Amino acid sequence: YDMFVLAFVERLFRPTYRKDDFVLGKKLGEGAFGVVYKVSLAKKPASKESDLVLKKATEYGAVEIWMNERVRRACSNSCADFVYGFLESSSKKKGEYWLIWRFEGEATLADLMLSKEFPYNVETIILGKIQDMPKGLGRENRIIQTIMRQLLFALDGLHSTGIVHRDIKPQNIIFSEGDRTFKIIDLGAAADLRVGINYIPKEFLLDPRYAAPEQYIMSTQTPSAPSAPVATALSPVLWQMNLPDRFDIYSTGLIFLQMAFPSLRTDSSLIQFNRQLKRCGYDLVAWRKTVEPRASPELRRGLELLDLDGGIGWELLTSMVRYKARQRTSAKAALAHPYFDREGLLTLSFMQ
Ligand code: ADP
Ligand code: MG
Repeated sequence: YDMFVLAFVERLFRPTYRKDDFVLGKKLGEGAFGVVYKVSLAKKPASKESDLVLKKATEYGAVEIWMNERVRRACSNSCADFVYGFLESSSKKKGEYWLIWRFEGEATLADLMLSKEFPYNVETIILGKIQDMPKGLGRENRIIQTIMRQLLFALDGLHSTGIVHRDIKPQNIIFSEGDRTFKIIDLGAAADLRVGINYIPKEFLLDPRYAAPEQYIMSTQTPSAPSAPVATALSPVLWQMNLPDRFDIYSTGLIFLQMAFPSLRTDSSLIQFNRQLKRCGYDLVAWRKTVEPRASPELRRGLELLDLDGGIGWELLTSMVRYKARQRTSAKAALAHPYFDREGLLTLSFMQ
């Protein structure tokens, strides 16, 4: 009851918007279920703070608004700042939902990983300066470690709230310039298991590049075509039994892998890697055995990075990318992994 009162009061004092309040800027993305634009407020003078993001979504936008409302109350640091969501009914199309976020920054992790400078380009934006430590594996490992910690922290927030994202990939991780940290975006495929909101439209395919091998992340069937969120009363007990959060952990493990191996950053090489891994029964250790003898210098360098400090990076990676969901680590357990014992960029910046 208190939660509802709080949510109501909170909404009352938040600004509400309508269609005419926004001036469309450049298009940022276009998916099967909506188009995303950078926008500014018509009434306010343009400034960095007033930059917003607008997603014009189809009927599934209702679920995405619901997820974003929940995130802003329960784990607001995990995701991009959600401002407002509403049904835009003045257009001809019926049921177009508009979702508004703060514009967090120009670059997703995918953009940053495309650069030849990666991971040094991330070091610069996180710290606002360049380390005075020689370039090399150790320094790159520190940066990757910092990114992984931020990612797992955001994911742990979502999972502790009872939300599984189901579309974790570098394109859905934005670097927040204001908060100097990575945040998760795009809750369009997310499921809230505590309340039982679990809906993926039939046409939606989990991104095969980052999807874990299990096809269904819960034992219950997804309803076929509801127009609103459907409650299927899933209890925390079911959450424990099915461990649906481990789906996101697998995807995060693949991102870790791509950060360590530049040669796996393109779509085609990731798809090829997935095929190899499948042939090895999703066993990374077996995969390593098959590729290591004839590994390229680049691949060898990635393995060397993961082997630093007694191989704790490799250990963490293999605890995330496993065939069986229940054998994968959780976000919370991963954060406590010895890989993160050395405090990465934070310690480094204090030491100087
Ligand atoms: P979809 O993948 O369904 O098209 P997303 O929510 O992933 O929609 O947004 C598409 C793109 O828009 C993202 O990849 C990112 O580049 C940009 N974007 C989304 N939200 C934000 C935000 N809050 N701040 C800055 N850019 C954003
Ligand atoms: Mg997206």
